[in-house]
Amino acid sequence: HQGNSAASRDIAFHLHPYTNLKAHETVGPLVITSGKGVTVTDETGKDYIEGVAGLWCTSLGFDEPRLVDAAIGQMRRLPFYHAFAHKSHEPAIDLAERLIALAPVPMSKVFFACSGSEANDTAVKLIWYYNNALGRPRKKKIIARAKAYHGVTVAAASLTGLPNCHRDFDLPLAGILHTDCPHHYRHAEPGESEEAFATRLAANLEALILREGPETVAAFFAEPVMGAGGVILPPATYFEKVQAILRKYDVLLVADEVICGYGRTGNMWGSQTFGMKPDILTSAKALTSAYLPLSAVLVSDAIYQACVDESARIGTFGHGYTYSGHPVSCAVALETLKIYEERDIVGRVRALAPRLQEGLRAFRDHPLVGEVRGTGLIAGVELVADRATKRPFDAALGVGTRLVSFSHQHGAILRPIGDTIGFSPPLIITETEIDTLLFRFEKSLADTADWLVR
Ligand code: PLP
Repeated sequence: HQGNSAASRDIAFHLHPYTNLKAHETVGPLVITSGKGVTVTDETGKDYIEGVAGLWCTSLGFDEPRLVDAAIGQMRRLPFYHAFAHKSHEPAIDLAERLIALAPVPMSKVFFACSGSEANDTAVKLIWYYNNALGRPRKKKIIARAKAYHGVTVAAASLTGLPNCHRDFDLPLAGILHTDCPHHYRHAEPGESEEAFATRLAANLEALILREGPETVAAFFAEPVMGAGGVILPPATYFEKVQAILRKYDVLLVADEVICGYGRTGNMWGSQTFGMKPDILTSAKALTSAYLPLSAVLVSDAIYQACVDESARIGTFGHGYTYSGHPVSCAVALETLKIYEERDIVGRVRALAPRLQEGLRAFRDHPLVGEVRGTGLIAGVELVADRATKRPFDAALGVGTRLVSFSHQHGAILRPIGDTIGFSPPLIITETEIDTLLFRFEKSLADTADWLVR
């Protein structure tokens, strides 16, 4: 990376999120310069199908003109206003109303932030505030799951169940606990059915709540499908059994719909796909098709009413961001939701899902493939060293990362999650483009197999 190239300047000046910083100094960046439909183009002019919609987010692809127009129109009318101290503006009002109408269960109010992390931090603070309002200041602990991904701000990173997000950051915070990852393929006992596995995990959750004391446990956070932890689907009956335990001990459920929201799983919400009845729902990403930063926290009326009482007692609900409900982001979100509705994005995902899911299942018998899993337009293919014993590859080999670098050569961007390859294409993808993506994955898998025997 010589001279004044974008790559050399990137190495010189840009501290990258979620990157092996040392490796980056030699590998350098893949510099993307433009996008069209489901395809992005790098600085050399090479095209890639974006098989993960960026970071599971650009559901309408990379050149939707209506979103550009919505942003420009709002920029011209009112580029910024805020919602502190009784101020408001129509884009935030309209979007809050729209989201309440879309919610999978009756919800009362919407709080806006910019990112999934901020949405989850907000949910944590609302839960603490709520339990103070109810006069039970000890009921503050929060349970998430191993391999969960809820973001990287201090509370959200604590909820996240990945060692990278804790180690060296002195996290998780005290009072944020983790229970089992519900991955049947990896964690079930030999011969244990999905239902029996779910029963065991729910019993473990109950044991954790009892050990901590139910009077100290406030909430349970869950993604409907765990995304960045490896595209892990809940086993059959899991949420039914978990929610029975939560109800028994008066523990709130937070559904983190940051990836699953807005059609990804074949329903508007992952909560609908998996029978979750959340008290709080967080969403971001596809809310604006990622064209601008925006996240939303939907809260039940019971939580809202308690917060109202508490703010009357102490004065102010002391939480909010300068950019809470940024008008340009809200205008883009409203247009995004309009397009989802007009194009029946949920119906489209249902119609396309078999093409992707069955297409990937065709690789189930490949010697490197341990498990193929997914629903709607989200999927994961887990690579293993030994299919019979499910033995993973030595992590130092970096097999998943290697496959994804082969996929770049073949014109597809995929997501390595350890040795699971993540798929989450824009929801506007066509059947032909899915076939092309599958073909490029097949070539990358073949290259990986050759590389392993070399
Ligand atoms: N929650 C889930 C399920 C996510 O997948 C992510 C990001 O990938 C987040 C929260 C954090 O969102 P952000 O990166 O916008 O802070």
